[in-house]
Amino acid sequence: MSPHEKNVARDVDTPAIIAAKPDVIAPANTKKVFIKTYGCQMNVYDSERMADVLAPIGYAPVDTPDHADLVILNTCHIREKAAEKVYSELGRIRKHKEQNKPDMKVAVAGCVAQAEGAEIMRRAPVVDMVLGPQTYHKLPEMIAKVHRSSGEVLETEFDTIEKFDQLPKHRSVKGFSAFLTVQEGCDKFCTFCVVPYTRGAEVSRNVQQIVDEARGLAAQGVREITLIGQNVNAYIAEGPDGTQWGLGQLIRHVALIGGIDRIRFTTSHPRDMDDELIRVIGEEPKLMPYLHLPIQSGSNKILRAMNRDHTYDHYKQLIAKIRTARPEIALSGDFIVGFPGETELDFEETMRCVEEIGYASSFSFKYSIRPGTPGASMHRQVDEDVKQDRLVRLQELLYTQQEAHNKSLIGKTLSVLVEGAGRKGGQLFGRSPYLTGTHFDGPENLIGQIVDVTITEAGRNSLVGVLAR
Ligand code: SF4
Repeated sequence: MSPHEKNVARDVDTPAIIAAKPDVIAPANTKKVFIKTYGCQMNVYDSERMADVLAPIGYAPVDTPDHADLVILNTCHIREKAAEKVYSELGRIRKHKEQNKPDMKVAVAGCVAQAEGAEIMRRAPVVDMVLGPQTYHKLPEMIAKVHRSSGEVLETEFDTIEKFDQLPKHRSVKGFSAFLTVQEGCDKFCTFCVVPYTRGAEVSRNVQQIVDEARGLAAQGVREITLIGQNVNAYIAEGPDGTQWGLGQLIRHVALIGGIDRIRFTTSHPRDMDDELIRVIGEEPKLMPYLHLPIQSGSNKILRAMNRDHTYDHYKQLIAKIRTARPEIALSGDFIVGFPGETELDFEETMRCVEEIGYASSFSFKYSIRPGTPGASMHRQVDEDVKQDRLVRLQELLYTQQEAHNKSLIGKTLSVLVEGAGRKGGQLFGRSPYLTGTHFDGPENLIGQIVDVTITEAGRNSLVGVLAR
């Protein structure tokens, strides 16, 4: 499933900034790089890795473009008008460059770069480099070329395995929770989605590389790892025993690493949810009881039109098996309303699906056309006001379920990974096993620890509690 999904630290339209990392060992004469990240967890991971690639050639990350020698926009193509938003941002960067920093270099990375390619350079001459998601290990070489020739450089080849082979072994991270890419790309070709065109075919990293990276993260104090992939449960690679390992076996292996106390994975596709993975969900205590499993629609007719390759019944049976394996699991889903041809009856089937399944969290969107995808040329596009009305009705139900799930936790004691200080003095902030933000009073020396918190209040988006005695 697509990378715009769960565990989202931020909304697609809200850029994240890879802030300065004091532990990056950079040569003297340090140059500054500002990386603005849009979209999913994989882009967050990619931006961190771009910072790692640039550190040995003297670039330190900064959190504003003001004095940056290099600005990278790590773009996302999931939302509507994504490319137009990038061009607007490039207009602002051009002004800043002309007025304040004429020697600044500009790169566009990520999925818009992959989709638009040379068109970006044609429309935005301020851009020196365009690099697709599979080529960021080539950044130093591209920067050298730009400096040598004062020309533009375009790299949008697909070679995921080469990228992972060439990335620096050391990963510099901040905090106690980290993403780790285990799989990239998608072969599913859902008719609404650009990912198969921007990220390429499904490719899995080898087990040893993943374990080494996870060990490196643990050595830096990371306690929680989220294994990520566009279709993370399509993971398949040769294990140390010479057999093919799926995600379930990989999770069991990563769980053996000392220091890693919590594991999550996202995003999964119902078609790839195999029995071994369901067994691991039931058996592995380090795996958090939270699963993001998108369905998109409750109507089999629409699922077929979306090319989802599963029916509602198949999904429902999967959920039943997963709940039998791990009764306390919290479910999260993705929904698209107003896909071409969706009638009121189809929409009601989505509502019925939500009522029957019950979600602890969710992501719901109105269908919007992605140029180049089959959905874009389908007949019977749904009127905007109908989509809006359906979205409001769907979200009302989903949000009620989310709040009910959170309120059901009042009085329970949950383990919380403390990420930092809360907004109020003396308050700490962390994540529950269900990924819900949790606030409670406690001393700062608990930051980075996993503590027990008894939940006393619950809203739709967060929990409040007290340290358990
Ligand atoms: S094509 Fe479908 S399965 Fe693949 S990333 Fe897009 S939404 Fe997910």
